[in-house]
Amino acid sequence: MDILDTDIKYIKGVGPVRSALLAEELHVFSLRDLLYLLPYKYIDRSMVHKISDVYEGMPYVQLRGHIVNVLTEGEGWKRRLTAIFTDGTGYAELVWFNGVAQQQKKLALGVDYLLLGKPTDFGGRLSIAHPELEKASEVTVEQGRFEPHYHLTEKLKKRGISSHWLRDTVQRGLQLLQDRPLSDPLPPHLLQRHALLGLREALHKAHSPASADESALATARFKYEELFFLQLDILRYARARTTASAGYVFPHVGRHFHLYYKEHLPFSLTEAQKRVIREIRADLCSGRQMNRLLQGDVGSGKTMVALLIALLAIDNGYQCCLMAPTEILARQHFEVIQASLAPLGLQVALLTSNVRGVERERTLLGVGDGRIHLLIGTHALIEPEVVFCRLGLAIIDEQHRFGVKQRAALWQKSVKPPHVLVMTATPIPRTLAMTVYGDLDVSVIDQLPPGRKPVCTVHYRQADRARLYEGLRYQLQLGRQVYVVYPLIKENPKQQLRDAETGFRQLSDHFPDLRVGLVHGQMKPALKDEVMQAFKKGEIHLLVSTTVIEVGVNVPNASVMVIENAERFGLAQLHQLRGRVGRGADQSYCVLVTADNLSADTQKRMAIMTGTTDGFEIAEEDMKLRGPGDLEGTAQSGLPFELRVANIVKDRDLMEQARNDAAEVLETDPAESLPAYAHMWAHLRKMKRFMQDFSAIS
Ligand code: ADP
Ligand code: MG
Repeated sequence: MDILDTDIKYIKGVGPVRSALLAEELHVFSLRDLLYLLPYKYIDRSMVHKISDVYEGMPYVQLRGHIVNVLTEGEGWKRRLTAIFTDGTGYAELVWFNGVAQQQKKLALGVDYLLLGKPTDFGGRLSIAHPELEKASEVTVEQGRFEPHYHLTEKLKKRGISSHWLRDTVQRGLQLLQDRPLSDPLPPHLLQRHALLGLREALHKAHSPASADESALATARFKYEELFFLQLDILRYARARTTASAGYVFPHVGRHFHLYYKEHLPFSLTEAQKRVIREIRADLCSGRQMNRLLQGDVGSGKTMVALLIALLAIDNGYQCCLMAPTEILARQHFEVIQASLAPLGLQVALLTSNVRGVERERTLLGVGDGRIHLLIGTHALIEPEVVFCRLGLAIIDEQHRFGVKQRAALWQKSVKPPHVLVMTATPIPRTLAMTVYGDLDVSVIDQLPPGRKPVCTVHYRQADRARLYEGLRYQLQLGRQVYVVYPLIKENPKQQLRDAETGFRQLSDHFPDLRVGLVHGQMKPALKDEVMQAFKKGEIHLLVSTTVIEVGVNVPNASVMVIENAERFGLAQLHQLRGRVGRGADQSYCVLVTADNLSADTQKRMAIMTGTTDGFEIAEEDMKLRGPGDLEGTAQSGLPFELRVANIVKDRDLMEQARNDAAEVLETDPAESLPAYAHMWAHLRKMKRFMQDFSAIS
């Protein structure tokens, strides 16, 4: 047996109770899991600070000294423990809010302590909350100077599992490896190619490095390992999908498509729209299941592409579904598409959580017996009660969270997996897209419909408010409609931000002759809808809202977008919001209103927004400025494995390499049978099994 598979309860000092806790809280079951828990930081124990040199903002400090006074204050949950600590150069106040009684017992006056903690400035005094204290005589330096620290959960801490205990346990685990053979899951030629540490060395350097460089080398190896297995799994899955499970074939361009194209198309397609339709059609004829991402800036006309592709599926005898992220969007798609397809005699239905009772029954029945050709809706579409008769195509609009995992739910709705088209206005870097969407192909609509005037974007400050209102009045008098977006729904005294409710009152007062509407996420969907409909019909002139109108809403007569506290929004979000205007023939405007005094970063972001309307350029700039924050969370949730050290956005260069390597390995050993890779495949299967067991219990 592989020594790493040893159950942790057999490691000295762990036992059945702690092993159950570690399994529950950190998903640690085996020695391997334990040793793969990498430290999140290392502390240089050779460095002792003087209290007189410590200032707020230092990440952590190590101090050496003794306690001169201990006192408790307050009652019940407000009880706290304070200790005054000195090293002769100054005083620090140590504070505990939890476990006061236990902690109090441990503290002794006059003892020589080593202390670790994060300093803060509390009313001019140096204060350290919940420091780690150890008797200086008991601190061992033999583990090397860089002491690893591990993430723990609150529950573990409460049950007495400390970073210190974990450190000792990991060290005991490492000792078990001595003189035992250890097989590395990564093939040797890949270790060599990227100059990575072997497993044994990496484990040692991760948990007891002699320097920061050593720990960095170890981290690099584990990052690569994680990404390599992630890519190996995704590519393997993609291969299985294209070889084993053939896709439906849509050979005909049929009656409805021709009829619609010749007689009902409201405009001629742009060249870019035509090209992506050809690309998609080639997939649909290939006999392999399509898995394609359609990227196109806001307003580039993705809906029309979706509609025509849906007609292709329908003409070949299949049903189609279109899923949108919100109720408003689903309804909007439904209205536009139903109006377009009803004249052809096709049945289009809407399904959201608000479609209830008899109507819901009827829709579910129609989907089940095949009478409904196209079902449009929200996430409600993937619920088990929705059973299609013959689903051939699933189109997913603006859904970045819809990763590999979630798509599996759609597959179960059909004998063979349906073709999948994911549409988005958010440009996603290619490697990331391939990872989140499996082996996906990408099509880009890189052209806007003709006659669009680029939105003119200006940056105003609070001081320009009078000018803003004048401009709004002028546009409103021309018969245009206006959006005003706020970062908050309600006033919040803690934040110096404008809010939609106050804005609504102020604008209603300022424009008494016009109708002002309000929508936000906390309103009942029916009411929200009513207001949106009134705005669409032109009955409301000025719509005050939060970012609920961000994605996909289409009101061509609305030509002005005002964004209050624009400094509070990310570039991608500002771009999305701006995309709500500029949809008609009129010159449109976007006004970014910010505070009067701005940080350099905000000024730069405003300059980018006023300087370009190209979504791809904005996304690039956004990544440069902020790092890819937003994408991260959304992308991560779609992965087949949980990543512990690597980050699919920050480490995307490494991921690119890992992907190429994984593809190469898969190419050389498609049957997964070469002895040279036996250990690697076994490792992957172990990970998969673990994930399955794990998702079954959690
Ligand atoms: P998005 O790609 O952001 O989803 P939509 O599909 O909502 O964009 O299209 C935006 C607007 O452009 C809609 O009003 C649509 O009817 C219109 N449109 C789409 N394609 C064309 C075209 N080729 N010519 C003119 N208008 C178009
Ligand atoms: Mg859209």
